Formats: sequence, structure tokens, C-alpha cells
Amino acid sequence: MHDMIQIRCRCCELPQRVRDQPGEPAKICSACLEHCGADEVSVRRRAESHLEMALERLEAARRAADDVYRDRDRYKEKVHAAYGGREIAIRKLRALAENHEQMGKGVCSCRTRGRASMAILDQSWVRSMIQRLASAFHGGGVPQT
Ligand SMILES: [Zn+2]
Ligand SMILES: [Zn+2]
Repeated sequence: MHDMIQIRCRCCELPQRVRDQPGEPAKICSACLEHCGADEVSVRRRAESHLEMALERLEAARRAADDVYRDRDRYKEKVHAAYGGREIAIRKLRALAENHEQMGKGVCSCRTRGRASMAILDQSWVRSMIQRLASAFHGGGVPQT
């Protein structure tokens, strides 16, 4: 039992997997072994099967590219849904923080004591969340559209 190795076929010039063999590694893929020869029939068969092989590769590459694009779109949607909600939340919280910047304990710049917004912003977890979200947004952590 031999392992498979990857070679660039000398005949079709495509990367191909061939059976590893003792001594010299194979230089021609198994598909091309069937059409080697200088006679007219072999030359024609070679051209036809090379075209088929190239089309197959092209189709496989196109499918792979489609998959990648689909995944990327799905990924992007998810990320945007997740970050979109956070972005709104952080915008509201930051606006709140800017409008009511703390000047002293329990007193904000608009000099009202005990406002609901101050009570919210006074909580350390809210402050740290604002910081964390702000650095996530401005630290390049969010994929750009
Ligand atoms: Zn080949
Ligand atoms: Zn060939």
C-alpha cells in the first residue's frame, strides 16, 4: 500500500495526486498515462481530456469560490447583527456619558443630583462596558464593510 503524493503533472501541467512509488516519483498523473503517445489518436485524446480536466478544475474552483463568498456573507450578516445592536447601545451610553459628565460624586455637568442617567452611569460595570465597547470599535476589532 502506497501513500498518495502531490505532483505537477508533466503532461497536463495540473497539480495531481499520484501513488507514491519506490524510486523516482511519478511525473505523469494517472489520467495522463492513458493518453501518452505521439500517434494522432493519442494526441487528439490528450487535447480532449486536458480540456475536460481543465474544465473540471475550473468548475471545482468556482464552487469553492462560491462557498467562500456564501460563508463570508453569512459571517458578515452575523457580525453586523451582533455589532449593530452593540453599536446602538454604545452610542446611547456614550451620548448619555457625554451629556452627563461627572463633576463630583452624584453631581453631573448639568448639576442635577440623582438623575436616572447618573445612577446608570455611576455603576462601574456600565463605565467599563463603555470602555470595552469603545476600544472594540476603535481598535479595529470589527470587520469593515
Ligand atoms: Zn496529467
Ligand atoms: Zn495529459
